[in-house]
Amino acid sequence: MEKDQTAAGGKTPSDTSLSTQWKAVCGLLRAEIGEASYQSWLKPMTVREVVDGELRISVPTRFMRDWIIAHYLDRLCELWADENAEVKSVDVYIQSERETETAPSRIKTSSGDAGFSGNGGSNNYRVDISAPLDQRFTFEQFVVGKPNEFAYAAARRIAEASKVVFNPLFLYGGVGLGKTHLMQAIAWHIHERTPERTVIYLSAEKFMYRFIRALREKNTVDFKEQFRSVDVLMVDDVQFISGKESTQEEFFHTFNSLVDQGRQIVLSADKSPSDLEGMEERLISRLNYGLVADIHATTYELRLGILHSKAEKMSVEIPQKVLEFLAHKITSNVRELEGGLNRVVAHAQLVGREITLETTQDVLHDLLRANDRRVTIEEIQKRVSAHFNIRVSDMHSARRARSVARPRQVAMYLAKQLTARSLPEIGRKFGGRDHTTVMHAVKKVDELREQDSSFAEDVELLRRMLEG
Ligand code: ADP
Ligand code: MG
Repeated sequence: MEKDQTAAGGKTPSDTSLSTQWKAVCGLLRAEIGEASYQSWLKPMTVREVVDGELRISVPTRFMRDWIIAHYLDRLCELWADENAEVKSVDVYIQSERETETAPSRIKTSSGDAGFSGNGGSNNYRVDISAPLDQRFTFEQFVVGKPNEFAYAAARRIAEASKVVFNPLFLYGGVGLGKTHLMQAIAWHIHERTPERTVIYLSAEKFMYRFIRALREKNTVDFKEQFRSVDVLMVDDVQFISGKESTQEEFFHTFNSLVDQGRQIVLSADKSPSDLEGMEERLISRLNYGLVADIHATTYELRLGILHSKAEKMSVEIPQKVLEFLAHKITSNVRELEGGLNRVVAHAQLVGREITLETTQDVLHDLLRANDRRVTIEEIQKRVSAHFNIRVSDMHSARRARSVARPRQVAMYLAKQLTARSLPEIGRKFGGRDHTTVMHAVKKVDELREQDSSFAEDVELLRRMLEG
């Protein structure tokens, strides 16, 4: 869904003003991405010219171009647009190719709806409703495994169906597990097979922003029309609109009217409908009405599969040992896993050395440390059970005897302290208990720690073991 951003003028600003602007853009980006990335990726770029609203930047290698496009292009577009109103899109090309070819192939991306960055009136781009899609987020590039097979199947079904099968499809799961990837895969698929159908993909944040702007510009009729005339509406990260009443209201109406017209809706969130806090009851029950599919935390097998697939596309030699090491060590989410692999490859290419286990450990030491420190609720349950000499299954059981209830409370307490899980999530991991039970456990353990020093020591010891 490439956007056509033909600008009116073809004026090329003088070199000096371009380079001043480039300095400003670099300064901002450098602060955002850090010195190391800046040196690796931004420093080697050369800003060439602005032609018909397209800013042209050259880089020395294909690898660099692909990397910059994948990681920094959107941000570059936004920053440039802020610096220079003339810039509507950014083109990154390989220096040597443009010199020899007459009609080079280009990858373009639109600067999108950069207005969200908060500088309100200063930009005047054509604003498409749908956000630009990531080229890589297709079904072909999605690796299927146990944790995501259900969500994948549901997404495929929607993409292939000619009429509505279940409405809405609600995808949920932790950060970086592939929700956005699956949604955009649906969009790509429909776009390729049946281009006459209108598909809108956007974040809930944008949905809200648009809505608020429409309110301000007294334009809500148009706003509603835009959304109500689509075949498939996909709104990503709807947890964002929880607690925002007027947006929910509008969302609910749009939603109902689309469902009534037999249009397909796909939503994603980081929690299940029932766990979304600050969502209206009627919206929740409407969400639960369709198909709810969750994406679970990755397994070792899935992580390794993903690494294999990504490594293949990079066409560099990466030892199996290194891939296994990464799959074993980076367990948090796929985004970090990808990031890790990218860094290892980038490093090897820059210093021109082959990838080994040693260089990998070296390049990723900070990331690896962060992942080492991350404790899972399962580990906590195991440790605590062993410590108090009870069965792990008692962590989930309904037994209320003090001998098991107390260790269970300690485990809940530690889960709250040592993981980033929410109270409802913790409750679920302890045999589907309510979040108020977890809250009570945390309070209770705190009280006991104050009253009983040997109990306090026990808890402290467990904490240190788990963190260590
Ligand atoms: P979420 O929206 O759930 O936070 P994303 O869809 O943005 O996560 O995924 C994060 C990154 O991980 C993306 O680059 C995506 O392509 C990649 N990814 C996630 N799951 C998979 C998978 N099963 N196969 C291949 N890539 C994946
Ligand atoms: Mg996402």
